[in-house]
Amino acid sequence: MTATVIDGKAFAATVREKVGTHVSRLKDEHGITPGLAVVLVGEDPASQVYVRSKGKMTVEVGMNSMEHKLDVDTSEADLLALIAQLNADPSVHGILVQLPLPDHLDSDLVINSIDPAKDVDGFHISNVGLLGTGQKSMVPCTPLGCLMMLRDHHGSLSGLNAVVIGRSNIVGKPMANLLLGDSCTVTIAHSRTKDLQGVVSQADIVVAAVGRPEMVLGDWIKKGATVIDVGINRIERDGKNKLVGDVDYDSCVAVAGAITPVPGGVGPMTIACLLANTITACCRANGLPEPDGLTA
Ligand code: NDP
Repeated sequence: MTATVIDGKAFAATVREKVGTHVSRLKDEHGITPGLAVVLVGEDPASQVYVRSKGKMTVEVGMNSMEHKLDVDTSEADLLALIAQLNADPSVHGILVQLPLPDHLDSDLVINSIDPAKDVDGFHISNVGLLGTGQKSMVPCTPLGCLMMLRDHHGSLSGLNAVVIGRSNIVGKPMANLLLGDSCTVTIAHSRTKDLQGVVSQADIVVAAVGRPEMVLGDWIKKGATVIDVGINRIERDGKNKLVGDVDYDSCVAVAGAITPVPGGVGPMTIACLLANTITACCRANGLPEPDGLTA
């Protein structure tokens, strides 16, 4: 058996297309252009790349992109003042503060100063609580992308056994809550889990968000299971730099029913879901119906 490869790049393109259609409709019918403000503090090279591609794709779907680049030694007071200004600006529907922040800034304080209705990363404590209690919230982009791919592949997820490996606040925990919201039976595994292989082998759905290259092996996977690989790990192999996931693709693809590759799986969905969250926030702010299929 060879798994169906879930093409995240193609799926992300369809999400962006849907977002673009709704942006045009908002402009034509309501005179509203959704706006996403991205705040970058410092010059971390990876963060600069992310911010650039977020800005480019925001503009491509017809939204306004506002970039705020601040010096690495920006004070907390100045950053909070900027966020207060963006919270109050009606042309800004989504605010994203690029993480990680420099050490002298308190990330939790900064994230929790964003208006939860504009918190398109879904990291504000109010959104975490709303998601955890099954209420309408802004949902973190990476797990939202995983959920969209799983729904697309399976239709209903109800009653399926799902194992999420990793319990971080940005991926593992929200992913588990989303799967629970879709009536999966959810197990969260982590570094202290006993018999991880045994736990994973019971799963109809495995979501790996660990940060350990190629850790999940094919003989852990139940035949026909769906494997979602969130991991992004840079390794050196045969003298070349390579990007691999948390899943050993070659052994898993032979057993799984469906699998996301790295690169080209979960990764492209993250920015697409940021755009989806921005249009959701814009519709909610204006009391308009939310587009179908772009939120949890
Ligand atoms: P964290 O480091 O915050 O969390 C990793 C989790 O994995 C922790 O809960 C940890 O357990 C668990 N873990 C570590 N080692 C093991 C092990 N041997 N067995 C079982 N569990 C283990 O990572 P993130 O959640 O932020 O990211 C996970 C991966 O996803 C990374 O590769 C990251 O690069 C990638 N990522 C990809 C994104 C995308 O857009 N595709 C977006 C965000 C992340 P414990 O809590 O016990 O320490």
